[in-house]
Amino acid sequence: MKQSKNVPPTPTMKGFSPGFASLGLEAALLTTLESLGYEEPTPIQREAIPPLLTGRDLLGRAATGTGKTAAFTLPLLQRLAHLAPQTNPSALILVPTRELAIQVTEAVERYGKQQRIAILAVYGGAAIRPQLVALKRGVNVVVATPGRALDHIRRKTLKLQDLQVVVLDEADEMLNMGFAEDLDAILQQTPKERQTALFSATMPPRIASIARRHLQDPVEIQIAKEPVKAGVAPLVHQTGYLVARAHKGLALIRILDMANPKSTLVFCRTRLEVDELTSMLNSRGYRGEGLHGGMNQAQRDRVMQSFRAGQTDLLVATDVAARGLDISHVSHVMNYDVPSSPEAYVHRIGRTGRAGRGGEAISLVEPRERWLLQNIERLTKSKIEMATLPTVADLQAKRLERIGASIQEILAGKNFDQFKTVVNTLTEKFDPADVAAAAIQLASRTKDGDLAEQEIPAIRDRAQENPSPSRRPRREPPGWAQGGKPLGDSARPPRRRDRGGPVTPMATLHFSAGKGMGVRPGDFVGAIANEANLNSSLIGPIKISDDFSLVKVPEDLAQGIIKVLGRTRIKGKKVKVRLYRE
Ligand code: AMP
Repeated sequence: MKQSKNVPPTPTMKGFSPGFASLGLEAALLTTLESLGYEEPTPIQREAIPPLLTGRDLLGRAATGTGKTAAFTLPLLQRLAHLAPQTNPSALILVPTRELAIQVTEAVERYGKQQRIAILAVYGGAAIRPQLVALKRGVNVVVATPGRALDHIRRKTLKLQDLQVVVLDEADEMLNMGFAEDLDAILQQTPKERQTALFSATMPPRIASIARRHLQDPVEIQIAKEPVKAGVAPLVHQTGYLVARAHKGLALIRILDMANPKSTLVFCRTRLEVDELTSMLNSRGYRGEGLHGGMNQAQRDRVMQSFRAGQTDLLVATDVAARGLDISHVSHVMNYDVPSSPEAYVHRIGRTGRAGRGGEAISLVEPRERWLLQNIERLTKSKIEMATLPTVADLQAKRLERIGASIQEILAGKNFDQFKTVVNTLTEKFDPADVAAAAIQLASRTKDGDLAEQEIPAIRDRAQENPSPSRRPRREPPGWAQGGKPLGDSARPPRRRDRGGPVTPMATLHFSAGKGMGVRPGDFVGAIANEANLNSSLIGPIKISDDFSLVKVPEDLAQGIIKVLGRTRIKGKKVKVRLYRE
């Protein structure tokens, strides 16, 4: 591990965009990136792609949201494109969960749409037969969770001898889920001359140890660990809203409806997003215009002129397009995505709070981007307040408040005589207060009716319970003794405290698989986390006896887990799960 690099800050010079082409990527991939609306590489991509293209091993410290998937996928695709056709897989990407396996598979498909390569996602819980059939037919890239990968390796259905590239994605999570031994077992069976890339959000000693054993002279990459020099203007108030991807559009509208901002910059990652958001905002009655690198100078000038003149309330832009823009009156900056680096965040929100004025910086945060935001908070040494999205009732109250204020203004202007005839006619028949209330009801009707009026489901912020990425709950393969009291010591359900968070009542699950079947704690953590989509940190102690095992899980989730695991296999065998009462 000789080389060590800190990724430099995103360039901020006007018009300076190093671009993907300068990284050594081939035309076919560049075309794909262009069609996806990517304007420039993220810092991790800028640093990781060139050495990976030359075949170097790589140790990258990067969390989700930094663009790491493209950072390892693009070089992998370029390498595979030059190989002679073969039936055994050329690349193996190991990921901790089924969810991530699906996500990475989709990303590889997206980035490799010109390459015509066969990709297969292999994860536990899913039926094994279609995976066997696909593997037999031949695939180029396998994206797998370690347990299921090992299962296939033992069945000799996943052959590793022709692997050129192995990627370990979210390696710390894989270790937390108890996959350390599985990873070792898999890597030992891969060819020595393979290229290996390991990505991890944190670098505990256990990751360094894996890297020492399985990576050869890797380039080390880390996205800025130093505090960000530019800092955040003290007058900018920063807020984050945790929201599921599916509700982001609705959340953006809700926040805008509440804030009623006059001049707002909305940032997103790609050209496609700029176009989509702009049309969505316009269809909801906002005056918005898009700005991205694909527009010519005349188009950009027109958009900027209209924004400066106040004819446009919202400017929806990519980072590249907004670079070098001199706009002085932005009251709100909205990050539709958490930007891929702290520097990009500082650059974005530096657009508001200028000239001694206050400003608002608002970020929509998908749960998977939550750690990225915490990193930004730490490196910019500023506070990002996590808030709950306004409800429909909040919005209605706000609308009425605004109508009330407008009515007061009109009353003060005394310029409403022409409406008095209607009022006189109505008050002959109705109570004047009722007439006024009906008029307010009429005024409060929105153009799009109930469309924007859905409640947006709240998401629990686990990061508030585990305040920093370095303090993410660790998931060692837990021996029963590690988890506190043994079963049976207490008449009431045991409880688990998540580092300062609320105490969670726990229930115990009984699995009909024990040492005799060769199960290990990681098998249970993997199955529960994958199948029941449960964060592995919520799983309590595990006790493995000769022919059964006991696993503690949050009491309120126990029934759901039993239901889902009823269809699951562990170590290739159907396993019965039931509630265990002491
Ligand atoms: P990842 O960290 O790999 O999960 O990527 C986070 C998100 O950023 C994904 O939605 C990608 O599609 C997107 N993304 C990755 N690289 C870029 C880029 N260079 N420009 C714009 N969006 C990107």
